[in-house]
Amino acid sequence: KAEKGENAGDSGSFDIGLQDTSKGVVTRFPPEPSGYLHIGHAKAALLNDYFAHEKYQGTLLLRFDDTNPMKEKQEFEDSIIEDLALMGIKADKVSHTSDWFKELYEYCIQMIKDGNAYADDTESELMRKQRMDGDPSGRRDASFEENLARFEEMTKGTTEGTRWCIRAKISVDDPNKAMRDPVVYRCSPQAHHRTGDTWKVYPTYDFCCPIVDALEGVTHALRTTEYKDRDAQYQWMIKALKLRNVYNWDFSRMNFIRTLLSKRKLTKFVDTGRVWGWDDPRMPTVRGIRRRGMTIPALREYILKQGPSKNIVNLDWSTFWATNKKYIDPISARYTAVESKDKVAATVTGARPAPWTEEKDLHAKYTDLGTKKVVYSGNILIDQADAASFEQDEEITLMNWGNAIVRKTSSSLNPLNKHIASVDLELHLQGDVKKTKKKITWLSADQNLVPIEMVEFDHLITKDKLDEGDDYENFLTPVTETRTAAVADENVAKLKVDDIIQFDRKGYFRCDKAFSHGEPAVFFQIPTGKK
Ligand code: ATP
Ligand code: MG
Ligand code: MG
Repeated sequence: KAEKGENAGDSGSFDIGLQDTSKGVVTRFPPEPSGYLHIGHAKAALLNDYFAHEKYQGTLLLRFDDTNPMKEKQEFEDSIIEDLALMGIKADKVSHTSDWFKELYEYCIQMIKDGNAYADDTESELMRKQRMDGDPSGRRDASFEENLARFEEMTKGTTEGTRWCIRAKISVDDPNKAMRDPVVYRCSPQAHHRTGDTWKVYPTYDFCCPIVDALEGVTHALRTTEYKDRDAQYQWMIKALKLRNVYNWDFSRMNFIRTLLSKRKLTKFVDTGRVWGWDDPRMPTVRGIRRRGMTIPALREYILKQGPSKNIVNLDWSTFWATNKKYIDPISARYTAVESKDKVAATVTGARPAPWTEEKDLHAKYTDLGTKKVVYSGNILIDQADAASFEQDEEITLMNWGNAIVRKTSSSLNPLNKHIASVDLELHLQGDVKKTKKKITWLSADQNLVPIEMVEFDHLITKDKLDEGDDYENFLTPVTETRTAAVADENVAKLKVDDIIQFDRKGYFRCDKAFSHGEPAVFFQIPTGKK
């Protein structure tokens, strides 16, 4: 126990293992290709990858769980592969549940022949009630010939066929409701995006999962804890069909406050235009959080640290972003920006008469980031909020320059917009920069200032945790995007999309659009976990 505690703060300290790994480890990540990966999926993918490739010398399978022909699209499959690659995850093999439709179909027939499954046409409302009450279906004791004939009808996709489904004959009244004759096959005349109209019957998740896991050689099937009740059913299928053993191992679902992690709801956000798309920085998708400025090593660290916990908690975003800050701080070059609205022109007496430039480090501590050119002159711009705070004869520090004394501030004459219009400063370079209260960011007006936009985002949802009956549509944050126009030093013109930087005293930002053709560069504020 003591050993564990020692490393508790390190990124690599989660000590989790799988049961009985003597015959090797094969794990799988089985997304349904019906949306882009969100951070919940990222947890599942990273855990499977961790066991297969880091903790044990095993194999990771990626299996597209494509049994629902209504929702799946090639676009989503492609995006899933790309997003996994982005997270540094490469599966050793890629498959589709639909690759196994033939085998699954044959196993269903075997199950019917063995008397372990039956065809049912009980109307769904009644079926639910019988399940709740522990009553048998009227079709439960049909002969296997009858059941086979009905399955045959289903495979044709006829109107009669669509009325039926196949159920595993496990139990009528087991205290574990997952054991009460689950549905294993349904009839759906819908074409499938990979198998076209070959099949009119589709196996359910409950049926595919154990069979395909066993057939593909999975040794440990990781599932979220909500599936715990279905482990018994999974094991039942394995035994009934005499398949090879697979262990179930469960981990907790990841939930975040004021965030929806459901492909269905996220799809709605995209379709209704609430967000710009799946990669919108407000989306909890892998793409969205990346666009917001999350880095992949931080994501891995954060998620793997949650690994062992089986508690389903509503995570706060602050630790998530605080983890990221550790990674971005040493790589964030520093620049300067001044808000455009009511920016204040200041004159600096004591400065040399002509503008000059000096080469300065991009980061005072991490000097390997290189240098930038800082323009100095007697005409500078400062933020309105800073100017408004100045007192007569106050000594302040101009960052990366030195101290100055406030000699005069002039207010605007406009009574509707009372603000500071100009400031006179007098350089006082012999002053001690450690003794001043205010370190002011400033920009020389004698340079090619770069127009920029700084964008800050809010959560899409207003309530920390939605309750069971809550309709999320009633808890949408009205305004989730705030744009601030600003100007930045001329070095910013060279920044590229995806660069992560810091504007002094304004925070960390990711460049989402580079400066070009006079159009402002766009920077997204990266949260740091502090308010
Ligand atoms: P969603 O409702 O968001 O679509 P899902 O579970 O239906 O979630 P799948 O594509 O089937 O989506 O999920 C692939 C894998 O990701 C599964 O193993 C699932 O357990 C896991 N997963 C999905 N959501 C989360 C989550 N919030 N936390 C942890 N794992 C998750
Ligand atoms: Mg699913
Ligand atoms: Mg789902």
